[in-house]
Amino acid sequence: MKSKIEKLKSEMLTVLKKADSHDTVRDLEIKYLGRKGLFVDIMKSLKDLSDEDKRTVGKLANETKTELEVAVQKRYAELEMAELGEIAEKEWLDVTVPGKKPLIGHRHLISKFMDDLEVIFAKMGFAVAGGPDIETEHYCFNQLNIPPDHPARDMQDTFWIKNLKDTVLRTQTSPVQIRYMESHEPPVRIIAMGRTFRKDSDATHSPMFHQLEGLMVDENVSMANLKAVMTHVLQQIFEDPSIKTRFRISYFPFVEPGMEVDCTCPICHGDGKISDGTPCRLCKQCGWLEIAGAGMVHPQVLENVGYDSKKYTGFAFGLGLDRMVMIKYRINHLRLFFENDLRFIRQF
Ligand SMILES: [Zn+2]
Repeated sequence: MKSKIEKLKSEMLTVLKKADSHDTVRDLEIKYLGRKGLFVDIMKSLKDLSDEDKRTVGKLANETKTELEVAVQKRYAELEMAELGEIAEKEWLDVTVPGKKPLIGHRHLISKFMDDLEVIFAKMGFAVAGGPDIETEHYCFNQLNIPPDHPARDMQDTFWIKNLKDTVLRTQTSPVQIRYMESHEPPVRIIAMGRTFRKDSDATHSPMFHQLEGLMVDENVSMANLKAVMTHVLQQIFEDPSIKTRFRISYFPFVEPGMEVDCTCPICHGDGKISDGTPCRLCKQCGWLEIAGAGMVHPQVLENVGYDSKKYTGFAFGLGLDRMVMIKYRINHLRLFFENDLRFIRQF
């Protein structure tokens, strides 16, 4: 009987050592130590022994059983450790590796430029006014003295809103002037910046573009004030105090007189060629750049908003921001503004 116990013990320890999964160990545990297991058979056969043998063999049998139970628990623990080791190997994490930075955007060059302009104008006492991108014909055209037969209203030029009578995507920022004057008494000193829309699309025109509008209305406002403001602003924008301006007579329905504003080329400084004698490509060697439209606010526009045009005068001007940014940062294609390529935007 003793040798039978020893045999069963060594047999179980051998197979237990080879068991390589939790389930195999569990099977062995049931087979040898379970309620109907091989060990129970031995215990049952103890009853046929003498009292003396019952005591000694029974003691051995109990001790062996405990020993085997410990061996089973040990094997479980070993397998668990091995499993954890495997997981650690597969799913290890090096906490000292620097984290991945989430990709973040970058302020767009045009937004940055608009911020800079706000600062330049704020120092001269101009407030920032705003208006809607979708405008009524009334504010976009009528109040600005733009008659129904004016080309600005042309179907080819303007995005009209379908199913919404007399409504357009604003073709200019000028309606903000009207909205502001309607709700404020003179003196007025504002700029308005934002998106404007026209049916244009080529290397220098996009259907959506940005404008800056300036308006000053008060008693005794004159062309001299307009010239001083334009010259100062352009010098600030191009960070060049040598910039000069010139006015050429032109026509815009909401100003009288109206004019085109040119400034000396910020690259060749009006010479038409750069320092080593090569012709300046930006101004096409003429030394001047067309930069803005401007003029004295038409008396009819002032009357339209209820101002006394005998008492008050004013000037207004409009700048194409995209073109200004292209000149200032030497950008050769408008498309770069809208592609949102971070490699481009991050350079500024
Ligand atoms: Zn030039």
